[in-house]
Amino acid sequence: MKVIVTGGAGFLGSHLCEHLLKKGHHVICIDNFATGDTRNIEHINSEKFRYLKHDVTKPIYFGDKIDYIFHLASPASPVTYLELPIQTLKVGALGTYNMLGLAKEQGARFLLASTSEVYGDPLVNPQPENYWGNVNPIGPRGVYDEAKRYAEAITMAYHNHHGVDTRIARIFNTYGPRMRAGDGRVVPNFIDQALKNEVITVYGDGSQTRSFCYVSDLIEGIYRLMMSDFVEPVNLGNPDEMSVLEFAGMIIRIIGSNSKIVFTDLPVDDPKVRRPDIRRAKEVLGWEPVVDLREGLEHTIKSFSGK
Ligand code: NAD
Ligand code: UDP
Repeated sequence: MKVIVTGGAGFLGSHLCEHLLKKGHHVICIDNFATGDTRNIEHINSEKFRYLKHDVTKPIYFGDKIDYIFHLASPASPVTYLELPIQTLKVGALGTYNMLGLAKEQGARFLLASTSEVYGDPLVNPQPENYWGNVNPIGPRGVYDEAKRYAEAITMAYHNHHGVDTRIARIFNTYGPRMRAGDGRVVPNFIDQALKNEVITVYGDGSQTRSFCYVSDLIEGIYRLMMSDFVEPVNLGNPDEMSVLEFAGMIIRIIGSNSKIVFTDLPVDDPKVRRPDIRRAKEVLGWEPVVDLREGLEHTIKSFSGK
């Protein structure tokens, strides 16, 4: 099958391209390298793989038949989407519109990489898919949260109105090799700081919670969702929840670092809790994470230390 991966030079996208190639598909990676890097894909040595430098907020046409479109293009870290607020809104809105248009024209199946951020600062924990969320539309995170909520809305509209075959993955915090040290998310920040024996920057008092999914588990979930016949959103993430402060301690212990923890300001609207309810993914996809946090972190730390 011929598959497009937008955002294919990013962290998740590059792992997805490799997974698709292993499954025997032809893969076209489309990326404008806003937050991605050619180094994530330049090692891929396959005649079934090619990449195009293109901004998906601009339309694109293909002569040959496309079967599947995985739409991952978007800044994903709070630091980068605050630096790129307009691009983030545009890629969620115009980028998703263009890729749905391509899917419609091609009769291709379309999967949206949505996010747990559609639940905002949630008032229920864990978050099931039928929770509508608690998002501040005009706060700093609104540029990402509302772009993804719009992307979900237009995806369902193309499904209901145009009959496009669509899937929506609500991805929760995922980590692994190829996250950028400067990306600003908690996993690369803490690992980079601990490896350099620098202070670990815990925002707020560190009592806010997250749950971390290893990249190979997430990619398997995304692939299964695309190959399923399930149209409603599906949460994909690891339900093993911990506080950010506990997480900092865990990174220090695994690395054996001398880093000390410092507490700095909590970003505006930082969600206080986050944990996926994955009952739907279990039932519909027969999927649940299998990589335990310590094992996943050891792989990730190795990749950061260049071993
Ligand atoms: P990433 O920043 O590593 O990858 C995003 C990729 O999209 C980058 O390669 C970037 O250059 C590309 N991109 C951005 N704007 C583009 C545009 N206009 N045209 C073409 N390419 C563009 O981030 P990631 O963690 O790999 O995230 C991938 C997707 O998964 C994103 O849509 C993100 O919202 C979603 N997601 C990720 C997580 C996570 O924990 N990693 C959680 C929830 C949702
Ligand atoms: N965080 C932190 N220190 C950092 C980076 C992040 O304490 O150096 C916290 C952040 O405030 C949030 C959690 O870690 O509560 C996860 O942040 P991340 O940026 O990875 O993504 P989010 O889950 O907020 O989208």
